This record gives sequence, structure tokens and C-alpha cells, in this order.
Amino acid sequence: MRLDLRGVSAHLDGRPIVHEADLLVDDGEFVALVGPNGCGKSTLLRTIYRALRPSAGLISVDGDDVHRLSWRESARRTAVVAQETPAELDFTVREVVLMGRTPYARAAGDDEERCARALDRVGLAGTEERVYATLSGGEKQRALVARALVQETRLLLLDEPTSHLDIRHQLGILHLVRELGVATLAVLHDLNQAAAFCDRLYVMSAGRVLAGGPPGQVLTPELISEVYGVRAVRRTQLVFERLKE
Ligand code: ADP
Ligand code: MG
Repeated sequence: MRLDLRGVSAHLDGRPIVHEADLLVDDGEFVALVGPNGCGKSTLLRTIYRALRPSAGLISVDGDDVHRLSWRESARRTAVVAQETPAELDFTVREVVLMGRTPYARAAGDDEERCARALDRVGLAGTEERVYATLSGGEKQRALVARALVQETRLLLLDEPTSHLDIRHQLGILHLVRELGVATLAVLHDLNQAAAFCDRLYVMSAGRVLAGGPPGQVLTPELISEVYGVRAVRRTQLVFERLKE
């Protein structure tokens, strides 16, 4: 599985938002997309999961133009956890997670098991009967990760998957993604976490992909100050690791 963006531009309400973005995620790679608020990260992701048609350029998954695939074929290849989570779904957690199975023709006998396993992996074991709308923000976010897991795709798109999570659950999701070994493009805000977990990262600013590569090479104080307008100093820091249960 390989995601390949070439010269992708996107407009919203006639306004140019993304300019000629090139980006690559190889099989099994965990790639981060970072950049300031409003620089176009979510818009770029939306063109990949087909919520938005690019105004120029080509987006291919395994060599096929994603905007030409059938809905079902596309959903078998790519799962997404979007930034805006549908908050007031009047469904149980089980129903929300099992929505991830819709690209597969028939309900399989082991769907319940898949659901239970996915919920367990995101730390929500046994919550199947809870009403989704009554979950906390972080629990909702993890339920949506579980929905993406049962979709069993080889490409995952995650838009700020850790934004509502406490530090332990942030690490849980990042470790989980690493262990999955599925090609992943994730919008992250914590540059230290991105550097610690990702194989490569891309930096966006004002609608452009400015740099891409291994975190240690890309995240220089010069680039960070240019993109974020802050001074970055490399210091020894506390490193958090999740303790086993
Ligand atoms: P990011 O995810 O990097 O924070 P977005 O891709 O969400 O940024 O937004 C990029 C720009 O597009 C912002 O200036 C934002 O205000 C604008 N934008 C986002 N969504 C819409 C929309 N539906 N209509 C018009 N402009 C939008
Ligand atoms: Mg966003």
C-alpha cells in the first residue's frame, strides 16, 4: 500500500487553501503531518478521503486515482478518523464501531468479536452497549479509532487523533498505530511525540508542504521558527512511557 500525492491543490469557497502538495506514505510507514492551525492539514487530508475534490494534482493509492475508485473499494483501502467527530450520534458504541464494516458486503459472523477486539485495543473494552453520545470527548475519539480498526484497511488517515486524550491514552494510540504496521498519515501537534513515533514527517505552512523527511533532519530550530514563529531549543526532557496494566 502506497499513498502518493503529486501537485495536489485544493480550494474552499473559491479560495486556494492547499498549493501543489507532494506527499508520500509507503507501505507500513507512520508519517506525521504537522503545521500551524489553519495551514491546510485537514483540507489536504479531506482530499485523500474524498470529502473534497482537489482542484489540481493526483492522489493515488496503490497506483489508482482515489477519486476514480468506487466508494466501497476506496473504503476498503482507506480508513479515516476525522478531526470533527460526530458528537450526537444516537447509536451505541457497538453500532458506531460496526459502521467500519459497511464496505464489506455482508455482516460476518465474527463482526462482534472484531468489535470487541478493537474496543479492547483502544482501552474501551466492554463499552459496546454505551450510548455513543454519552461518552467523553476522549472516549468518542477512541471509539472512532476502533471503527477505523475494524475497517481493516492498509492505509489509515488520522486527523489529530490524540487531541482529546490524556497523556496515557495519547501514548496508547501512538503505540497502537506503530504496532499495527499499517501505512498511516497522522496530523499531530506535539512535535516531540511526532519525532518519537513517526518514521518521517511533513511540515505544512500556509497551504504548502515545505519539508519532508526523518524528524531529526526536518525539525530544525530554523524551520520551526520560520513556520511557527517560536524559538526551539533542544534540551533533555522527561520521556513518558506507558506502564503495563
Ligand atoms: P488545519 O487543519 O491545518 O488547521 P484547515 O485545513 O482546517 O487547517 O483549514 C485551512 C484553511 O481553510 C483555514 O483558513 C480555514 O479557515 C479554511 N477553511 C476550513 N474549512 C473551510 C470551509 N468549509 N469553508 C471555507 N474555508 C474553510
Ligand atoms: Mg485540522
